[in-house]
Amino acid sequence: MHELSIALSLIDVATEESDRRGGAAVLAVHLRLGPLAGVVREALLSAFQLAREDTHLAETELVIEDVPLLAFCPICQQERTIASVQELCCPVCDTPCGDVLQGRELEILALEIVEAETDDRTVASNQDCQKLQSDIFLEP
Ligand SMILES: [Zn+2]
Repeated sequence: MHELSIALSLIDVATEESDRRGGAAVLAVHLRLGPLAGVVREALLSAFQLAREDTHLAETELVIEDVPLLAFCPICQQERTIASVQELCCPVCDTPCGDVLQGRELEILALEIVEAETDDRTVASNQDCQKLQSDIFLEP
């Protein structure tokens, strides 16, 4: 199951970041998800709940931010927000738009972390999480 392997990778990254910060609690993993990422949002959320069980991230939430599907319309010569993943047509002139600009995203936006020593809440940006990028986000 594709979503479960992604969820496990998310847990791995969060665990590693937590360990790197001396066992800091990870409150939430923020993820950007595009409609063309090939991941079912609901399936990923339930897979994440499974994956976090029996780890020290059992309280960690997965927060998914939906990324709108954008494509370039060759007729309008403009970026358009595409309503249907199935059709990929310009909402204005109905021309098929093959040139997808955005919508394949599957990336960690941030990890919400409470530092073990200071109790300060910090947010690790995805630059801090390169491992995840290379582990799962280069999948076709
Ligand atoms: Zn158009």
